[in-house]
Amino acid sequence: MKILVTGGAGFIGSHTAIELISKGHTPVIADNFSNSEKWILGRLEEISQQEIIFYEGDCSDGNFLAEVFSREKNIAGAIHFAAKKAVGESMEKPLIYYKNNLLSLIVLLETMQEFGVKNLVFSSSATVYGEPGSCPIPETAPRQKAASPYGNTKVICEDIISDSVFGGKNISAISLRYFNPIGAHPSGLIGELPIGIPNNLVPYVTQAAAGIREKLTVFGNDYPTPDGSGVRDFIHVVDLAQAHIKTLEYLEKQNTPFYDVFNVGTGQGNSVLEIIQTFEKVNGVEVPYEIGPRRPGDIATCFADPQKIEKTLGWKTEKTLEESLIDAWKWQNYLT
Ligand code: UDP
Repeated sequence: MKILVTGGAGFIGSHTAIELISKGHTPVIADNFSNSEKWILGRLEEISQQEIIFYEGDCSDGNFLAEVFSREKNIAGAIHFAAKKAVGESMEKPLIYYKNNLLSLIVLLETMQEFGVKNLVFSSSATVYGEPGSCPIPETAPRQKAASPYGNTKVICEDIISDSVFGGKNISAISLRYFNPIGAHPSGLIGELPIGIPNNLVPYVTQAAAGIREKLTVFGNDYPTPDGSGVRDFIHVVDLAQAHIKTLEYLEKQNTPFYDVFNVGTGQGNSVLEIIQTFEKVNGVEVPYEIGPRRPGDIATCFADPQKIEKTLGWKTEKTLEESLIDAWKWQNYLT
């Protein structure tokens, strides 16, 4: 299948493009490079040993998307990654987040309808669960108002998609609720490229280990968790990328408009301190850190119940936490 991958030069998008190719599909990347680098496309060609089709432009621009769909005949579906994703920045610039994340989705859905493209996989997040009542979190857990405008855009986008599907416009879609994607391609050629000071844990860990940051701050050690630090469900980005291909292939089999949501996580919770210790052990390098106060808006524990996607799509995580942290370090060393 020929698949439009919006945001295909980004962290999860680039890994998904590689997995699409390895399963015999053809990604068509659309990216405005606002949070990614053009040279990633060269890396995709190096890994896949084939030419990558890409268009530079903004997905909230209907003319741009229409041009992509008309030049690329027979696009069978889209995976929509293109979105702004920094939680802190979204608090400072909420309107930019709502405008960008909502508009690009709406324009994509309109253009898909115009060109008769049926299948959509949407990049959602476990943030839609807010502070969960308990863990593991199944898809039936209630969604809550998220702690940030970024998180709210995911809640609203899920609703826009399900309304569009049930509005009978011949679209089928699945929202994938990601837990915490980490790691990098095992080749070390592509990975996460945080702009400035990383917000997320693992890019900060790798930069602290590389000496780019003086030390990592562990945000709180007084949570009601086994060691007091926050617990998350860290999933290797290649496992996560593979979930998208299974999802598309499943959507392709549906005959009537269809909408569903799946958690994509390992089902296992690991603490921030466990991440540091495991990283040090598997990579033989020290991570300088200190304990600091809690980060506002953080929750104590969050990990998935992944049974639904395992049973329905036959997808399961294959990579271990150790492999994720080895690949993250390999990528960091490639960069520095
Ligand atoms: N965290 C930390 N120091 C950092 C970044 C993150 O202690 O510099 C913690 C954070 O408090 C949370 C976990 O690491 O418990 C994962 O945070 P991240 O921002 O990567 O993802 P989130 O789960 O918040 O989306």
